[in-house]
Amino acid sequence: MKKVRTTCIYCGTGCSLYLKIRDGKVVGVLPDKNGVDQGKLCIKGWSSHEFIHHPERLTKPLIKGKNGRFEETTWDQALTYVAKKLMSIKEEYGSDSIGVFSSAKATNEENYLLQKFARAVIGTNNIDHCARLCHASTIVGLVSTFGSGAMTNLIEEIEDANVIFVIGSNTTEQHPLIARRILRAVRGGVCELIVADPREIDLTGFSTIHMSQKPGTDVALLNGMMNVIINENLHDKGFIRERTENFEALKEVVEKYTPEYVEKITSIPASRIREAARLYAKASRASLIYSMGITQHTTGVDNVISTANLAMLTGNVGKRGTGVNPLRGQNNVQGACDLGALPDFYPGYQRVDDEAARRKFEEAWRTSLPSNVGLTSVEIINECGKSIKALYIMGENPMLSHPDINHVREALDRLDFLAISELFLSETAQLADVVLPAASYAEKDGTFTNTERRVQRIRKAIEPVGESRPDWRIIIQLASKMGYPMNYNSPKEIMGEITALTPIYGGMRYERLEGYGLQWPCPNRDHPGTKFLHKDKFSRGRGRFIPVEYIPPAEEPDERYPLILTTGRVLFHWHTGTMTRKSRTLTDQINEGYLEINPVDAEELDVADGEKVIVESRRGRITIKTQVTERVPKGVVFIPFHFAESAANILTNPALDPKAKIPEYKVCSIRVKKMITSM
Ligand code: SF4
Repeated sequence: MKKVRTTCIYCGTGCSLYLKIRDGKVVGVLPDKNGVDQGKLCIKGWSSHEFIHHPERLTKPLIKGKNGRFEETTWDQALTYVAKKLMSIKEEYGSDSIGVFSSAKATNEENYLLQKFARAVIGTNNIDHCARLCHASTIVGLVSTFGSGAMTNLIEEIEDANVIFVIGSNTTEQHPLIARRILRAVRGGVCELIVADPREIDLTGFSTIHMSQKPGTDVALLNGMMNVIINENLHDKGFIRERTENFEALKEVVEKYTPEYVEKITSIPASRIREAARLYAKASRASLIYSMGITQHTTGVDNVISTANLAMLTGNVGKRGTGVNPLRGQNNVQGACDLGALPDFYPGYQRVDDEAARRKFEEAWRTSLPSNVGLTSVEIINECGKSIKALYIMGENPMLSHPDINHVREALDRLDFLAISELFLSETAQLADVVLPAASYAEKDGTFTNTERRVQRIRKAIEPVGESRPDWRIIIQLASKMGYPMNYNSPKEIMGEITALTPIYGGMRYERLEGYGLQWPCPNRDHPGTKFLHKDKFSRGRGRFIPVEYIPPAEEPDERYPLILTTGRVLFHWHTGTMTRKSRTLTDQINEGYLEINPVDAEELDVADGEKVIVESRRGRITIKTQVTERVPKGVVFIPFHFAESAANILTNPALDPKAKIPEYKVCSIRVKKMITSM
């Protein structure tokens, strides 16, 4: 038995683990007592080997024949076909007629190469990935207030806080080992917990205060808390004076958000808003933690800005145990953003429309680059069959992850050409013209960057399954066939190029990452990496208060669609289930979707617990079993989005935040109907 240390493939916590290898196969997982997880793994981590040798793994390249069926082919034929199609479409319609989706599951080196492929080989900035669907608003919101769009503090520092404010994060289900830190702090008796979530999530059972806000009213709630803090003179005047700007404008806007006014918008009693504001403001170290309950709204950027305003107002930035801490979803969504898999940024958040940055990359990559900002992933889908004629996808599954899936299917059907690299024949891969079998995380070297900006190694433990190949090799071979040779022999060599061009990764070397990684910014070889951000000054100099007004969600309940649908995840599955639904341990726990509905709503609709119902929105309908529960308040229902058979995203609203272009997954209007069964 051999053991190989690597990093978990699932959530952004970035737990370190050992893969157990016997006879060239991964047969089990062991925790690593020295990792960020302190020797613990959640059930997904313990099962993270189970999909690797699943019989449905793609092992040979596939090309779809004229009869619509896939036929196995050789790598050379498949790559030549993809290269020819992309080149002919580029020649006929121009570079911007091609879109590229990168992947938060893939390594930093692969994300770097794919954005280079899009920009230098195809000649377009139309590259994006699923961060657009989860934390695009974090980048815009925190960059504009703090100057850096990442988690400000460390996971371990959560235990140093006296108050933890969790808003819009079902942490026990989505980041279980970060939730463990929260619970250890609270159970230790030195820390109090405030939870703002429309549902009664597991954390609410441990909270001093739970505020069940109406979905989509977070700006009003946070403005209400700031109103109390300012009116009761609890704000940190020294911090505001010395470290921030634009306070007077904030004060003016939050003035009307009295707790009584906010109660009318959020349904949270005014007295509870006051209590929460006082508790947070009086803490010597308050840590604010959020996730997609904050970001996935048409006001996602405003929500993020409001969390930053609240933290600055109370001086809770730039010291241990405090901060604004967005928990990034997938294992490497932070790294995919850092390495430029975005339509507006080169690696290291250097803007594509900044001439100096463009010249720097043109020189390094020895080609001319486009200067226009590209399309985001939702815009690419909307343009399929119009300005976008071809799409290359690395390991993403928009047929389940994007909002309004019926629209996504129609869009992908309109393409002239769709190629994808994947582990399994996902819902999106089934629609492709060419499917390239990709190697899993156990079959390649590279790095992932976790939610606290920690760049950690993953290590090749076994040979690629079947004829699958790591995405970095696939991209190199495709680029070469398209006339742009890429000469790298290993991910380590790719990291060498990354460090030369990406200042925040400047000091990252594989030799230095051997332990438990380094946290960016790490600008040079001697730099130890950065623990918490904004210590003496914000990344942008002074922190900027940006006042924001409450704007209601794009869709509100009405007579035809009287209930609010909100979506989320469950502990046992990850994202679109491509990997977790191939794991026996996880599917034994739960393997189908469900609709949480309050007993009062269930009674009004005459539906019983476990009964199958029809759920309809303006965009589509699904059938799904009910779970009648008081976890959701009256008027609100919840569906986990992992399950294709009852896909929540058939229902969700593709309305976008105007700045971050993130869709409003967390609020849409639906109706629930009984199914008429024939006797
Ligand atoms: Fe993996 Fe996240 Fe679980 Fe850690 S908490 S074992 S990173 S899924």
